[in-house]
Amino acid sequence: MDSIVLIKQVPDTTEVKLDPKTGNLIREGLKSIMNPDDAHALEAALVLKDRFGGKVTVVSMGPMQAIDVISEAIGMGADAGVLLTDRAFSGADTWATSFTLSMAIKKVGHFDLIFSGRQAIDGDTAQIGPQVADWLGIPQATYVFDIEAVHPKHITVKRRLEDGYERLQCRIPALITVIGEMNNPRFPRVERLLGACREKAPIQVWNAADIGVKAQQVGLEGSLTHVIRTFAPKFKREGKILEGSKETVVRELIQKLKDSEGATACKAFASTCEL
Ligand SMILES: Cc1cc2nc3c(=O)[nH]c(=O)nc-3n(C[C@H](O)[C@H](O)[C@H](O)COP(=O)(O)OP(=O)(O)OC[C@H]3O[C@@H](n4cnc5c(N)ncnc54)[C@H](O)[C@@H]3O)c2cc1C
Repeated sequence: MDSIVLIKQVPDTTEVKLDPKTGNLIREGLKSIMNPDDAHALEAALVLKDRFGGKVTVVSMGPMQAIDVISEAIGMGADAGVLLTDRAFSGADTWATSFTLSMAIKKVGHFDLIFSGRQAIDGDTAQIGPQVADWLGIPQATYVFDIEAVHPKHITVKRRLEDGYERLQCRIPALITVIGEMNNPRFPRVERLLGACREKAPIQVWNAADIGVKAQQVGLEGSLTHVIRTFAPKFKREGKILEGSKETVVRELIQKLKDSEGATACKAFASTCEL
């Protein structure tokens, strides 16, 4: 069972701050980590490798420093890694990112399953997995939390729905996006981590030419969406604790809702209340 796992390096925070002048993400001082869902995706691939043998290759697109998450993945048990890094890849939207990843996967060669996280904690779109499947023309199962059965030609998985789950049979090769509920990722082993840092580490670094793409097809140039302006929404909230008897507090609250600016629904509700 050969698997490819897509891994993104992300800032270790969900509270992303933007530079008010440039609109760019402020990365200074932020530690980078393996995207949490991706650790679960990797664990799922490693469990299959433990049971059925085969090879696990991780692929990441990002700046040179993203090699750290590839090393970590090798420390956990992946056999090889590919870092896609090139100035031409920068500024990519999800369309260009998924295209780039799919071209790299074609170059990696044989796979039975591709695993990705459901969602990255910085970009947050949850689009990359499904888009990669589409570029490669293979079936996909998203929000997977259990692989029930593996057959040579198909797998049976459970995917989380809002009100339960769905059991899905999917032919192989396929792409699976994994949620955190799936497993507990193993820790990297020190001797494997050291191996990943040696000169002969099984990590390849590919640029645009290596995967046979032109600059116009990737990065900002190859993107279908263009950001016109980025800004952090400003919240004007202030808390106030009302004091007094229940009656006084309710009276004051309703009056405040009636007097409030905006918040049409609150005002409409307040006008139905009798003081
Ligand atoms: C117009 C535009 C410009 C942008 N410019 C930049 C920019 O200049 N610099 C920048 O850093 N980002 C930029 N982005 C964001 C970038 O496009 C996304 O971070 C990227 O496409 C992944 O989307 P996501 O983070 O929503 O991932 P999701 O779709 O939420 O991720 C799902 C899963 O896909 C896999 N995955 C996602 N990204 C990668 C990756 N890079 N490598 C391997 N696996 C991956 C992981 O398994 C992940 O769990 C831009 C986005 C837009 C729309």
